[in-house]
Amino acid sequence: MATTSRRKKGDSGKLEEYRRKRDFSKTAEPSGEVVPPESGRLRFVIQKHAATRLHFDLRLELDGVMKSWAVPKGPSSDPSVKRLAMEVEDHPIDYNTFEGTIPKGEYGGGTVMLWDHGTYIAENTSVEESEEAVRRGYAKGDLKVTFFGERMRGSWVLVRMKQRRDEKSTKPQWLFIKHRDEFVSTDEMVSDDD
Ligand code: MN
Repeated sequence: MATTSRRKKGDSGKLEEYRRKRDFSKTAEPSGEVVPPESGRLRFVIQKHAATRLHFDLRLELDGVMKSWAVPKGPSSDPSVKRLAMEVEDHPIDYNTFEGTIPKGEYGGGTVMLWDHGTYIAENTSVEESEEAVRRGYAKGDLKVTFFGERMRGSWVLVRMKQRRDEKSTKPQWLFIKHRDEFVSTDEMVSDDD
């Protein structure tokens, strides 16, 4: 089968951390599988997650999983604002449609709501070369992307911050920043009632 042959060896390990953190007999979240990417149309999603601390989960499709960041304050369309984005474990693509309440006491306990979804591409590349460019940008810690969502429009960058030596065992922190384009605005994107 063509779809099977496109699947890379070792993909099954990608969601190991995601699965380890969850008890699927208690949470309705998907246990997921690694899905081979389709022709450069990469999906993104942002979920509003009212966990112990409210945050927004930014997820970008790459190599069959959703690369994920917790953004405590959510995105800002103001280029002078740098929003902290804490990298977390890869999530399954099935998670993109997940909404619901994770039971209290379980990992990430609280309500998850879909805040925005759509597609994205790497900046200054063709759709065909986009995934390779995203892979390179992610590895380099300088990921420039353009969003095609309802709320997320235009170009943004994720910049990985340097880790101190004693932080090497934890996942890196990034900054999520709007680039200047016609979608810039100083209006808050995130409000209490959405
Ligand atoms: Mn979360």
